[in-house]
Amino acid sequence: NLFELFRSRFPADRSRPFAETEPGTDKARTVTYGDLEALTGRYANLLADLGLKKGDRVAVQVEKSVENIILYLATVRAGGVFLPLNPAYTKAEVEYFLTDAEPHVFVARPESADALREVADKAKVAHLLTLGTHGEGTLPEQAAGKGADFATVPAEADDLAAILYTSGTTGRSKGAMMSHRNLGSNALTLHKYWGFQPDDVLLHALPIFHTHGLFVATNCVLLNGSSMLFLPKFDAEQVMGLLPRATVMMGVPTFYTRLLAHPGLTREATAHMRLFVSGSAPLLADTHKEFSARTGHAILERYGMTETGMLTSNPLDGDRIPGTVGFPLPEVSVRVVNPETGASLGTDDIGIIEVAGPNVFSGYWRMPEKTKQEIKPDGFFITGDVGKVDGRGYVHIVGRAKDLIISGGFNVYPKEVETVIDGIDGVVESAVVGLPHPDFGEAVTAVVLRKPGSATPDEAAVIAVCKEQLANFKVPKRVFFMDELPRNAMGKVQKNLLRDAHKELFIAAKAR
Ligand code: ATP
Ligand code: MG
Repeated sequence: NLFELFRSRFPADRSRPFAETEPGTDKARTVTYGDLEALTGRYANLLADLGLKKGDRVAVQVEKSVENIILYLATVRAGGVFLPLNPAYTKAEVEYFLTDAEPHVFVARPESADALREVADKAKVAHLLTLGTHGEGTLPEQAAGKGADFATVPAEADDLAAILYTSGTTGRSKGAMMSHRNLGSNALTLHKYWGFQPDDVLLHALPIFHTHGLFVATNCVLLNGSSMLFLPKFDAEQVMGLLPRATVMMGVPTFYTRLLAHPGLTREATAHMRLFVSGSAPLLADTHKEFSARTGHAILERYGMTETGMLTSNPLDGDRIPGTVGFPLPEVSVRVVNPETGASLGTDDIGIIEVAGPNVFSGYWRMPEKTKQEIKPDGFFITGDVGKVDGRGYVHIVGRAKDLIISGGFNVYPKEVETVIDGIDGVVESAVVGLPHPDFGEAVTAVVLRKPGSATPDEAAVIAVCKEQLANFKVPKRVFFMDELPRNAMGKVQKNLLRDAHKELFIAAKAR
């Protein structure tokens, strides 16, 4: 059982802190390893008393809190399957997830429980409990009356510990089934790779309904018996104030752009930190370079997915190369294949990235067909990401297969065009998508975010630079400007929204 793996690493001195929540505010509170152990026992007893059996799901749609982490551990400890949901999901979305997952227990925010009761009943949820941000609600109340000792339910390596829904960037979210082995092996590899020590302090500002904040960040801390500063969400001002107390931060690229916008970000302000990690979305090379220049820290970029946990990482010691996601982790095999033939490609050849290892999930929940399509008979999972491995072994992500644009019969990788546009003076960032076009099938279209207050470059200037640097079929037919690119909770650009927002354009052009 994954919980016992963690517990074997807890510090012998259980009065050591596990998490300080909302540090630096009047709500600051420290949860020790002793508290963690006792509370997971109480929560696990409650779940068992509610009739939770091995393999039963515990679905959770609550705000970020340490109690939420305790619920994750207690579920696993009781032999259940933890299933976190984004608090931003609407009632209709929750209904889809509950109907799909059929959880035995559903834990909601106190303020939304009434509205969700009908949905929970429809999905045949046996027990609806509540949990608030500061440890209030019916779950902690009922657990308080339970004993702290609990005989952990034994688990096989392949038993499920969690179902995590993917971010839904390319379509409807899929439930990735994660086993005790998947999560344990990945955490063991990671904490070693990143040189975690018991006295490390992780600055945790990520959401915990996603693999990055729940498994990558939290599991590293648990395996290491170290502590974290636990923030409800990322706030640049608050994070700046806590950097002198932390040693490691894990973030998404937007954390770093927001820190760069803070005038206090200097070498001195980050002197106590040993490691800044970025993942979940591509980190712009410019962000990497600016951060290095301001602080002396080379951000370590890594790559992973809900279905696999962490896959690759730039080295702890060695060159962290901007624009790459580093080397495959020791337990992970990475290959790049030709999408048509499936044949393995050589160094620097661009193709579909496939991965295998003990970290790779066992399949999509209740989607056997989809699972068979995505996991090959030899165990390699088709990530859907396009990339290459260079001569030094660094992995590069070029984009997603689904974002590939086919214009006039030619393949255009959006990233290649984005890199050219991002290099133009006055441009912060760009996103390139294909829009339906009567002549080309898809037309290369750029959406550009300019520096605040900048009116340049304009559409003609962007097109002119692209014409200089790119083959004609890759040059955007149209360029639009936006004040902000639409992003989801993990900082991923939502290209489907960009396509939807602009798709009428070329169709209208045809009618004219
Ligand atoms: P869905 O599968 O539902 O469409 P999603 O793929 O965004 O959503 P996640 O599992 O959260 O859901 O994200 C994994 C994806 O994020 C990867 O497949 C990859 O495309 C992207 N990603 C993660 N880290 C990086 C990185 N460092 N650079 C570029 N892309 C990254
Ligand atoms: Mg995905």
